[in-house]
Amino acid sequence: MAVTVDEAKCIGCGACVAICPVVFEMGDNGKSKVKDANGECDLEASKSGCPVGAISL
Ligand code: SF4
Repeated sequence: MAVTVDEAKCIGCGACVAICPVVFEMGDNGKSKVKDANGECDLEASKSGCPVGAISL
């Protein structure tokens, strides 16, 4: 599944990394980024858990 993080929206809360650490990681800029779009995890949960709607599937 294609997954992207809108860094302009991301507030760096870390929720997506907590839910899907195989897919997301925090970048040096304090924003989440995709490290492995094919990682096994609940992407829908990470999307719905993002408080600012920065994750697109
Ligand atoms: S859950 Fe959303 S706001 Fe929080 S780090 Fe992930 S992309 Fe950023």
